[in-house]
Amino acid sequence: MIVKSDNLVYNMDKESKPALSVSLPIQLTYETLDCFEGQLKTETDTLENLNFDRVNPATGPVYFENVKAGNVLKIKIADIRCKSPGIMVAAPDAGILGKMVTKPQTILVPFTRDSVNVLGISLPQNPMVGVIGVAPAGDAINCGTPGSHGGNMDNTMISPNSTLYLPVQVDGALLAMGDLHVCMGDGEIMVSGVEVAGEVDVTVDTANHLNLKNPLIATEQAIATIASADTLDIALDIATADMANLLVELGHMTINEAGMLMSACGNAQICQAVDPQKTVRFSMPKDVMTRLKIKID
Ligand code: CA
Ligand code: CA
Repeated sequence: MIVKSDNLVYNMDKESKPALSVSLPIQLTYETLDCFEGQLKTETDTLENLNFDRVNPATGPVYFENVKAGNVLKIKIADIRCKSPGIMVAAPDAGILGKMVTKPQTILVPFTRDSVNVLGISLPQNPMVGVIGVAPAGDAINCGTPGSHGGNMDNTMISPNSTLYLPVQVDGALLAMGDLHVCMGDGEIMVSGVEVAGEVDVTVDTANHLNLKNPLIATEQAIATIASADTLDIALDIATADMANLLVELGHMTINEAGMLMSACGNAQICQAVDPQKTVRFSMPKDVMTRLKIKID
């Protein structure tokens, strides 16, 4: 079933009218627009001309009839198809380097299956979903802001063959997504990755054996807790504590053992450092988790 890109929301909101209402498990294809909603078409269109009310549209939301608040949604990212060209921007005061930027600039980034041409440099594709989330139990949250509901996490691990787990906060979950990147470096330091429109194939089910307060991502190589907060320091505290608790609960370790193992082979990594809340992940090698008999699926 296809979720068309004319179903757009700018907030993750329990009051949003669903684009679709379906039962799990289900395979869905979300058609998504780029984070500028297609407003930047040429290199003469800069952030100065942008209507910011139309930034970070997410396609959806989809209501899942057999999902309740307190469940855990399991979203397998089966494929991401990106539409060339991508777009990148720089602008004064935008991102970590914004203070050093004196004039806005937009570049078009053409790409093929094999290479992404950024300023004449050929880079590999690493397609990912920047914004993906469920409706929060409380007030609506703008699609540009990440949190325990997911949202604008800009996590490079949310890529094909990964599985994202989101704690469901309201009945039906209301899953929406957008803001695809054909590639992005950790941190998204200039505020944009290589921004693209495209399609995301997902298989959605529940994983109610998991006890989650925040998002969790599993790839073929790693399992990572994800946390967003006012600062990178606070986000790191939460992501690290969430992983330690997971090792204690599912790996039957003491907190000292969990912490020492994490310190020996785990990686604290920045997802993005430029959104209203900053996002950090704590990643553990999958084979270590397997040897601890921790199975997320
Ligand atoms: Ca983003
Ligand atoms: Ca983006």
